[in-house]
Amino acid sequence: MTEQALDQTPVTRLRGVGTQLQARLTKLGIATVQDVLFHLPLRYMDRTRLTPIGAMQPNTEVVIEGTVRACDVAFGRRRSLVCKLQDDTGTTSLRFFHFSQAQKNNLRPGTRLRCFGEVRPGRAGLELYHPEYQFLDGPAPAPLEQSLTPVYPATEGLAQQRLRTIAGQALEMLAEGRLPDLLPAELAGGHRRPDLIAALRYLHRPPRDADLDLIARGEHPAQQRLAFEELLAHHLSLQRLRRQIRQLPALPLRRDKTLEADFLATLPFALTGAQRRVADEVAQDLARPLPMLRLVQGDVGSGKTVVAALAALSAIGNGAQAAVMAPTEILAGQHRHNFETWLAPLGLRIAWLTGRLRGKAREMQMAAIADGSANLIVGTHALFQEGVIFHNLGLTIIDEQHRFGVHQRLALRQKGKDGTVPHQLIMTATPIPRTLAMSAYADLDVSVIDELPPGRTPVNTVAISDQRRGDVVERVRTACTAGRQAYWVCTLIEESDVLEAQAAEATADELHLLLPGLRIGLVHGRLKPPQKEKVMALFKAGELDLLVATTVIEVGVDVPNASLMVIENPERLGLAQLHQLRGRVGRGSAESHCVLLYGTPLSRQSRERIRTMRQTNDGFAIAEKDLALRGPGEVLGTRQTGELDLRIADLQRDAHLLGSVKEAATRLLSEHPQRAAALIRRWIGDKERFVQA
Ligand code: ADP
Ligand code: MG
Repeated sequence: MTEQALDQTPVTRLRGVGTQLQARLTKLGIATVQDVLFHLPLRYMDRTRLTPIGAMQPNTEVVIEGTVRACDVAFGRRRSLVCKLQDDTGTTSLRFFHFSQAQKNNLRPGTRLRCFGEVRPGRAGLELYHPEYQFLDGPAPAPLEQSLTPVYPATEGLAQQRLRTIAGQALEMLAEGRLPDLLPAELAGGHRRPDLIAALRYLHRPPRDADLDLIARGEHPAQQRLAFEELLAHHLSLQRLRRQIRQLPALPLRRDKTLEADFLATLPFALTGAQRRVADEVAQDLARPLPMLRLVQGDVGSGKTVVAALAALSAIGNGAQAAVMAPTEILAGQHRHNFETWLAPLGLRIAWLTGRLRGKAREMQMAAIADGSANLIVGTHALFQEGVIFHNLGLTIIDEQHRFGVHQRLALRQKGKDGTVPHQLIMTATPIPRTLAMSAYADLDVSVIDELPPGRTPVNTVAISDQRRGDVVERVRTACTAGRQAYWVCTLIEESDVLEAQAAEATADELHLLLPGLRIGLVHGRLKPPQKEKVMALFKAGELDLLVATTVIEVGVDVPNASLMVIENPERLGLAQLHQLRGRVGRGSAESHCVLLYGTPLSRQSRERIRTMRQTNDGFAIAEKDLALRGPGEVLGTRQTGELDLRIADLQRDAHLLGSVKEAATRLLSEHPQRAAALIRRWIGDKERFVQA
């Protein structure tokens, strides 16, 4: 084989990668062998040691070996195959919800197995759900793993085992000639980090004795080496984009006092002092002929939407359009409802655009956007796809900005008229400390709504160990029987919609069994939007008592009668995410409760996070604590909600690198512009192309 550069080597060059697998890898953003190498594990499993069955602990991952004693199909609400496995120290059950006859036949009594899986408390003792297993035949069974086993971010139809084999092949091809180290020695030096190749090898296959705590915190030199390079690439690309944008003018939008007064008169409440102050700051920016780029931070429920409406009125009063973009259909729908209620009485017209809207209805909306008869346009990111032509877009408002990447956000600015760039207002409930905001977006101004509207009752939060799960189920029964509604939120370690959906299904099944009298609904990310909306509508209408959900409900969902939320395995989520979730209750007049149903044993950090959640309802206090705590080991294992779409770096943890990143970026741009371009391609690739489109 020739020594082709790995960024030019398509994945199909790897053994066993055909067109079908290629398509799945594309979903993960993997096109070349280089991409495989930069697709880093989320976490690691230790399969280098055996656990005696008698010593298994719930909610841990174990390798066990034993002899099959029985293997039978159990009939319940859900049929499952249950296989009893025994060693010298005890017996446990392996449970499979999906199985074949052949599988059942192979697991005959007397067969010896080695299994790997997560230990779960079952009705009759500890169980392993869907463990991976291999047959141990012959006198000398296969040796245990020698290095730690990586768990990669995965996607449907792409098993971990596959990803491991592919990564293994890519590692074999790894050589300096084929994957150049783009950091000039004088810039990388002084940090005493391993070289690129050594760092990648280590992170894909850490040795058995690797310091997992150090890796979990993201502080291993190999990680720091890559984090530095990644932050550098982002910094370079932002500098480039900013340079382009700063050259463009914006429409000055002066405040329309009459329109504002009419609007405020329709509201059933008065603005808080903080809302008024922030609205003033926004109005001052808008009046300038330069594009505003302002971030409005405000805790869940602080009333950001009204501030957005006021900004929109400035645009509309000047004959321009305003667009409001939300990250999910559910949230976009709620905004549409609010803005209709507020603005239609003023004679303004609201258009609506999401990816789902098709045919005639879509054409009508597009026409209203293009001919200017729509004053305000609400939607999802479909608003900014090709083919959507605005008549005169003066202002873009982005809600819950952390769901959009920086590049996506900047791309929105390309939709102005006659060479102008729309002003941009970004709203988030996730506070970002000033220093970090400045590094991540040097051109971003920040306003804070630091006051909640009067009359809110704080949510009462308790933490209960999952050994007392039964009590929590009873609590749900009591609340729902008394006419209140509840959420039951399932979380999962793996970054996979499929697994998360399966976990939620299993929990819903279990709760159906335990709470036969209740009307129970289920939403997760794998449902089609119409199904999702149907369930949400039923819940909102009070026709469901209990909603079992994944973290899809984290943002924006508003059902005031829901006053109890159970969050299962809260230790798997970051503080910011927990706070967002909890913000779904405490919206009505009833006293609200949040139960954190945690798995044991808890790490020190998890305990600390749970304590913080119990102590305060203040989003800013929580964010500060989050920053102080985040050794993002566990963040590595959860959904990334960072404002930058970072693979390995973490803005909080790696803040100390930002100074040298900035220096390196400036030098690289002037002394090695090709390397700068190659770095951007390596780490950001497609997203950057999307911006240029
Ligand atoms: P968030 O900042 O989380 O987006 P919203 O804008 O959705 O908050 O506002 C939350 C709720 O508070 C809404 O029902 C809204 O109508 C109400 N609200 C907003 N401002 C005030 C205010 N000044 N006084 C009373 N209620 C308000
Ligand atoms: Mg909001």
